Amino acid sequence: MKCKHLKCNNEVSGKQLFCSDKCRKAQSRTQLGQTSKSDSAVGQVIDTVKPEQLITQPMLDSLPIGVVHPSGQPDEHTARLSALDLKVRLNAIKDWQASTVYAEVVYRLLTSTLEQLEQSGQFVPAWRGQWQAA
Ligand SMILES: [Zn+2]
Repeated sequence: MKCKHLKCNNEVSGKQLFCSDKCRKAQSRTQLGQTSKSDSAVGQVIDTVKPEQLITQPMLDSLPIGVVHPSGQPDEHTARLSALDLKVRLNAIKDWQASTVYAEVVYRLLTSTLEQLEQSGQFVPAWRGQWQAA
């Protein structure tokens, strides 16, 4: 059997799909650009694509000491919630640090202007007043 990487003609033995890690990664990148998932054999070797990380490491690093870092990410659902909705939900969540809701609050605090935050009814913590985007 030939290596699954389209541009490679090396033979592979046993159950391997690619002759090398290099070919596996190259093919994985090629596949990511395509929407078709008809070839399930190839689909299984594609590295899991992470959802877009809205809160990036530099954003977390820019948080002042003492501010709890969110361990989750905002999603389409939390993006639609009002500031009040977020507050109400956050109060009801036990594992709030890992919640999408807390991630959304921090995301808004870091990406909105003070004016936008105030207009939306978002509670603005003291640290946000001095905070500057990195
Ligand atoms: Zn190969």
